[in-house]
Amino acid sequence: MMDTIFSKIIAGEIPCHRVYEDDKVLAFLDINPLSRGHTLVIPKELVVTIDQLSDESAAAIGRVLPRLSRAVLRATGATAFNILQNNGVEAHQAVMHVHFHIIPKYGDGAGLGIGWPARQLGADEGKQLAATIASHIERT
Ligand code: AMP
Repeated sequence: MMDTIFSKIIAGEIPCHRVYEDDKVLAFLDINPLSRGHTLVIPKELVVTIDQLSDESAAAIGRVLPRLSRAVLRATGATAFNILQNNGVEAHQAVMHVHFHIIPKYGDGAGLGIGWPARQLGADEGKQLAATIASHIERT
């Protein structure tokens, strides 16, 4: 994987407003926040998208995401927030290192705006698709 802004932040080559660090995870403020308290949580493992992430790094992030979310809420006074995680350019990923956004919502329009062009899932399609996805899940 190529160096990214985030791997340089992990290596200490670029500064950040750090809020949390352990041996597998780093969290820091987004430099262009969508709302006050917008925080990024990244694994120290150098992978681009979440499907490439090891179970160990995934577990380490999952362990701290709720705690970091609580800290952001307490620090900002927000009571609602989105967790956003983009994978791939088509999905709006700009920095090619896995990251989770914690984005507070204040009811003033700031924060994450979401387009949600939903359609109805047909019963047959749902049955087949669920079975196909289930058959592709790797067993640990
Ligand atoms: P994404 O579109 O999910 O890849 O989002 C990348 C995020 O990284 C954006 O919200 C940027 O504002 C943020 N970002 C880029 N460079 C930095 C940096 N040096 N420090 C903190 N956040 C950054």
